[in-house]
Amino acid sequence: MDMHVMEGPDPVLTRSDLIADPSLSAYEKVGGYRGLRRVLSGLSQDDVVEEVKLSGLRGRGGSGFPTALKWEKVAHHRVPVRYVVANGSEGEPGSHKDHFLISRTPHQIIEGIIIAAYAVGASQAHLFVKDNFSEGIRILRRAHQEALSAGFLGENILGSSFSLNLQIFVGPSAYIAGEETALLEALEGRPPRPRPKPPYYPTEMGLYNKPTVVNNIETFAHVARILREGPAWFRKRGTQKSPGTMVFTVSGSVAKPVLVELPLGFSLRRLLEDYAGGPLPGETFQCFFTGGPSFGILPAKDIDTPLDYDSLRAKGTGLGSAGIIVLGSNDCPVATSREFASFYETGSCGQCPPCRLGTESLAGLLDLVESGQGTIETIDRIRKIADMIKGRGNCGLITASAYMVQSLLHHFPDLVKTHLGDSRKSGKDRVPTYKYDHFVG
Ligand code: SF4
Repeated sequence: MDMHVMEGPDPVLTRSDLIADPSLSAYEKVGGYRGLRRVLSGLSQDDVVEEVKLSGLRGRGGSGFPTALKWEKVAHHRVPVRYVVANGSEGEPGSHKDHFLISRTPHQIIEGIIIAAYAVGASQAHLFVKDNFSEGIRILRRAHQEALSAGFLGENILGSSFSLNLQIFVGPSAYIAGEETALLEALEGRPPRPRPKPPYYPTEMGLYNKPTVVNNIETFAHVARILREGPAWFRKRGTQKSPGTMVFTVSGSVAKPVLVELPLGFSLRRLLEDYAGGPLPGETFQCFFTGGPSFGILPAKDIDTPLDYDSLRAKGTGLGSAGIIVLGSNDCPVATSREFASFYETGSCGQCPPCRLGTESLAGLLDLVESGQGTIETIDRIRKIADMIKGRGNCGLITASAYMVQSLLHHFPDLVKTHLGDSRKSGKDRVPTYKYDHFVG
């Protein structure tokens, strides 16, 4: 399936000249590695952290946590060994931005990783990519070699006293491997299972129990631009609390599934109408999963919500990794939620009993409802299980699965009831397409 690539109004990472060619020579021609050169020509570690703090950059992997705060925690530990880990394990349904950035502009990511390592005093960094992304692995390995040969990685980078070893780590493709502590387990050679937090917050006890910065790869790409152009330049885009841009992907029932980088705070309506071509012919919008399924449903009446962390949170949903799945009037929210419930069931690593049993039960009960075999008691059981399991696991998957079904019951109570006893009464069972493997343009 093809996803169209469009250039937004004032892109930071996806300008056409930045994504035309992933090679080092092309990247340097458009100013690549100037941020790193600037850093190594006289900025202190604190200066770099301060610039990221002034930019207001928030993590682009899902939580929106302030990047500089994370870095400060790691930089201020009085231990000789610290690590930087770049999370390129994208797996949330509807999210495709990390695959795109890795494929089209790998040096932007690598430059940001090097700057982060300098800022927190790390001499070892890892870039985690899943083993089923063979094109990305190939592109990253080539970029890594180019950066090494050009002196941007390795000993005494650009003649400075700073050295960094970067490993491109090819890890398991399981969804849960993208959870930050599961990813650290995989890096240490174990199965990817999330660690309990506390005590294993990566900034305190991360890779090999050392303080570790874990950021999404888009976050690192922004760092490269911020250190080149300055925080004020970055802040010209976005809102006061959500500065900068984000790479959005829109999939599902729209005329033109699209990837486009937009300033945070851009309206969902304008994204869907101006870039994604509006709804499918003859349909209207029904609802949206704005941050993939993990953040629940935004109903169509809220289409004018600004796309930023706080505005979406105020509506009971979230930005996540900016993968928006659109349901049109012929899609079935119940069938779609049943599919996502199965996704969480198979994605659970199973180490926490409430998650293992809860995700399985939710998927099974939603299946009953969707197939017309459910009763009012089935809905009550779904509600009770979702209430019971929220927050009772080592990671957010268990809460995401509960929240997703609660959101369905909250926004579509009547539709859910029309399925009881007869799934065909609603007349719709389509699930929108949200898997894309090819970018066009
Ligand atoms: Fe694994 Fe679920 Fe526990 Fe997360 S909550 S660690 S996915 S069992």
